Amino acid sequence: SMPVITVDGPSGSGKGTVCRLLAEKLNWEVLDSGAIYRVLSLAALHHQIALDNEEALVPLAANLDVQFLIDPVSKNGRVILEGEDVTTTIRNEDVGAAASKVAALPRVREALLRRQRAFRTEAGLIADGRDMGTVIFPDAQIKLYLTASAEERAHRRFLELNGRGLDVTLSGLLEDIKARDERDMNRKVAPLVPASDAITIDTSELNAEQVFAVVMKVLEE
Ligand code: C5P
Repeated sequence: SMPVITVDGPSGSGKGTVCRLLAEKLNWEVLDSGAIYRVLSLAALHHQIALDNEEALVPLAANLDVQFLIDPVSKNGRVILEGEDVTTTIRNEDVGAAASKVAALPRVREALLRRQRAFRTEAGLIADGRDMGTVIFPDAQIKLYLTASAEERAHRRFLELNGRGLDVTLSGLLEDIKARDERDMNRKVAPLVPASDAITIDTSELNAEQVFAVVMKVLEE
């Protein structure tokens, strides 16, 4: 059936980079499911809907006007919400935190299920998220679970955000990461856990290139 590799794990575990490199190598598409939750939380903000108002968030999720485009020049992905380019905005820490709040609502997740499954095509898909291997694509041919210590993940986020000129601190990011882990791992639906048939890779001591090399070795086996 249609080939899917799922890559799940907590924020900062290196999923994004691995997925991008894998997609380039295999010439497959990528589903960035976290971006969908991030966009939804931003849409809630725009429409002044509270992040725990499940009743109002469900129709918003079901009708979410989002486009994932590839810039023809830079080849970078762009994310468009209701006609507005939100590519950089959705990467902010407060949007990540807001995303993990709407993501805890069962009926919101359900409303986004079909939209995510629709990314699967004959051409192959790399699915990046938290529940790709457990809920969205349980029949994926290969399932990876990336993890790293909270300290290392906070450090990576610091380099990324600080590099973009944002005013962040390492201790603040570590707190954010722990709060987000706590919410993602303890929620009632689709909690962040490796699928029973996932291969876990601890990336704490590895750089992006090394993580990719480990992944390629797994794929060759
Ligand atoms: O991966 P990213 O940091 O962009 O995800 C933002 C938030 O969206 C996560 O903290 C998580 O709460 C939620 N999420 C999720 N399921 C996914 C992807 C993301 O619950 N498949």
